Amino acid sequence: CGIVAYVGQQDALPIIIKGLKRLEYRGYDSAGVALLNETGLSVYKKKGKVSELENSLLNNGFLHSKIGIGHTRWATHGEPNDANAHPHFSANEKFAMIHNGIIENYEVLKTDLINKGYKFHSDTDSEVFINFIEDIHKHNDCSLEEAVRLALHKVVGAYAIVLMNKEEPDTLIAARKGSPLVIGVGTDEYFLASDATPIIEYTNQVVYLDDYEIAVIRNNKLQIKTIENVEANPYINQLEMEL
Ligand code: GLU
Repeated sequence: CGIVAYVGQQDALPIIIKGLKRLEYRGYDSAGVALLNETGLSVYKKKGKVSELENSLLNNGFLHSKIGIGHTRWATHGEPNDANAHPHFSANEKFAMIHNGIIENYEVLKTDLINKGYKFHSDTDSEVFINFIEDIHKHNDCSLEEAVRLALHKVVGAYAIVLMNKEEPDTLIAARKGSPLVIGVGTDEYFLASDATPIIEYTNQVVYLDDYEIAVIRNNKLQIKTIENVEANPYINQLEMEL
């Protein structure tokens, strides 16, 4: 139900945890983060409060990362438990994704993926979504953003998603339809969140992603295109900050 992501020069985890706490008012039953550093792409997730996730991560020395995604879940498909919490890995564990919303045609997609040999670790529609993207990525031998774009033509429902790729430590890929997503543009850093509240303490420059748009933040640049692959000019809004 809440999304926070960061890429830049700061330590991502404290920014993400703080941001998730600011989104607590939206309601949720579980929380999780994915981080990427020399030790690889890791997912930490738990049923319960953001503070419980935070406490479970204290004293873990492997958490320094300049990129990360975080999520608070409001369960729609599958009970609230650790496995159903987000982020979800793709089957090859190269990609991690957070998702807000509902994929209505997930059963058809899931059956198809199971027939192809995919195994699932959760009962969520979201894990189907990320494996659907992985499968397209594999069969089309394309970039992850292209696989996301192709997948969005086939999924029915509502989503705000953010993905990380183990092989692209400077890249976040995001998209939305029906669920909100705001991009904060800082100095050499970017933030993504369900609303501006986790962002305003860092920057007052925000871009509101539109339905059917895909944002790629790579190497400190933001590019937005539609799912028809037409490049869009990011419109930067200046938020009024309360001082
Ligand atoms: N449908 C997804 C799930 O049940 C996402 C729910 C949400 O928006 O938090 O895991």
